[in-house]
Amino acid sequence: MKTIVEFINVVKSYQLGDLVVPALRGLNLKVFEGEFTVLIGSSGSGKTTVLNLVGCIDDPDSGEILIDGNAIRQLTENQKSELRNKKIGFIFQSFNLIPVLNVEENIEMPLLIQREITMADRKQRVKEALADVGLSEFRTYMPNKLSGGQRQRVAIARALVSKPQLVLADEPTANLDSKTAHMIIDLLTDLNKRKKVTFLFCSHDEKLIGRVGRVLRIQDGLIVEGLSTQGISVE
Ligand code: ADP
Ligand code: MG
Repeated sequence: MKTIVEFINVVKSYQLGDLVVPALRGLNLKVFEGEFTVLIGSSGSGKTTVLNLVGCIDDPDSGEILIDGNAIRQLTENQKSELRNKKIGFIFQSFNLIPVLNVEENIEMPLLIQREITMADRKQRVKEALADVGLSEFRTYMPNKLSGGQRQRVAIARALVSKPQLVLADEPTANLDSKTAHMIIDLLTDLNKRKKVTFLFCSHDEKLIGRVGRVLRIQDGLIVEGLSTQGISVE
């Protein structure tokens, strides 16, 4: 299986006034192409820090991060933003939709910065992404007319529309009731199987982990347990 993300001894701390807060303490992990990987751990364990580093939103203090075989450290800022825009999709806990844009305009947003994509291609991709999340009839709705679950589906379509190699999801179900949360998980796992989307999903919710592929447990900035669905230790 192809490795799409690899962390080797990654250390990251935050400076909070005079205080140094350790977030990752030499973390190792691998994410494989086509898999649905779940990073599970309590609040403060380092999940968001991992996703921000994968998304090139932040830099590690030390250690190596490889995305699709490329060491992030060796990329220029332009190359990093290209990686972010073309290869990685993001889904957030709070949906982060733009309130003054309707559903299809929100989904189209990531494509507007890719100038090589024509308008006809953009419209086609938005249409497909809307169908993938089951929201075709809602394409002209404003976000405030949608339920939480529908808003998160718009955000999922927006993450998928650029056909990224990897989608990062930071606690995407934390603001949803449990029934809606399970529907969102089912949608993501379905997209993983049907469209071969690679997901790195993080959550603090133990109840979700029975439902997904490969679980890595993070605690105090280290992976403490990695199991595949077959129960084989992989890391
Ligand atoms: P999680 O997403 O699992 O809740 P985080 O990655 O957000 O964990 O945080 C890991 C640790 O780093 C926690 O102790 C948190 O308080 C700290 N931390 C995260 N972001 C910052 C920041 N910007 N400034 C200071 N400390 C931070
Ligand atoms: Mg977090």
